[in-house]
Amino acid sequence: MHDFQAILDEVMAAVRPVVGQGRVANYIPALASVDPSRFGMALATVDGDVFGVGDWRMPFSVQSISKVFALALTLSRDGDAIWRRVGKEPSGNPFNSLVQLEYEQGVPRNPFINAGALVMTDRLLSLTGDSRGAVRDFLRAESGNPAVDFDAVVAASEAEHGHRNAALAHFMKSYGNIENPVPLVLEHYFWQCSLSMSCADLARACGFLARHGRTAGGTRLLSRSQAKQVNAVMLTCGTYDAAGEFAYRVGLPCKSGVGGGIIAVIPNRCGLCVWGPGLDSHGNSVAGVEALDRFTTLTGLSVF
Ligand code: GLU
Repeated sequence: MHDFQAILDEVMAAVRPVVGQGRVANYIPALASVDPSRFGMALATVDGDVFGVGDWRMPFSVQSISKVFALALTLSRDGDAIWRRVGKEPSGNPFNSLVQLEYEQGVPRNPFINAGALVMTDRLLSLTGDSRGAVRDFLRAESGNPAVDFDAVVAASEAEHGHRNAALAHFMKSYGNIENPVPLVLEHYFWQCSLSMSCADLARACGFLARHGRTAGGTRLLSRSQAKQVNAVMLTCGTYDAAGEFAYRVGLPCKSGVGGGIIAVIPNRCGLCVWGPGLDSHGNSVAGVEALDRFTTLTGLSVF
């Protein structure tokens, strides 16, 4: 058995020199004002024990981490049908690139680039009538924290600066790959990105992927095979265009967001979340990558 608390303490001591390095996301003012010296990490076992260090109880903006939950909820309702509208290959391009989408006739490479997440949001909107509400309610239930909520300031700021996302959505609409009105899809997408959660919340919330699709309450959200699919897409596409580097250094399914958070899954064992707002040139948390690298090296826990 691992002493997870001692391991997290050791990881935090080891990454201290890089905490504060990197650039805080500055495309919207609400993210630019986050203190770069923050660092937190949490681990939630499949049995419900939670361990944490640093600022592990402090909420931050989940941003693209929300894409994992939108995918899981869509898959749970729509099954394989969704893969006709979005691919599952790494993009090798920035998360908000338009170029590839034109070459590939409006079908995004994967559900974790913005175009793919917009398709997922669109489909979840059609399936539930309220995509953002479905994602929030799921996160509340899985994290066990009923206070999980949107940040209206972040959502408004995303909308104000969301020209590129609007371009992606309109472009896909022109190919028939968006069902709902573009402004409605964008609104739900921005609200989902604005969700504010702590490392503790997110480590618990990704537990269903460590439990092969079973929720915290024991019901089945995804089949075992679908849970494997989500983990596989996280491994290959979850960390912008640095997924190869992540697989090499960390060896776990991960998803990062420009708020500086990264979730990671160790099947059968636990969900992890690390947060450090300073980002590297790919948009991944500098301290977060280092911490996950240290964690898997110290414990020997990885999918390989
Ligand atoms: N809300 C951000 C956007 O769509 C998400 C960016 C991210 O975390 O990758 O631009």
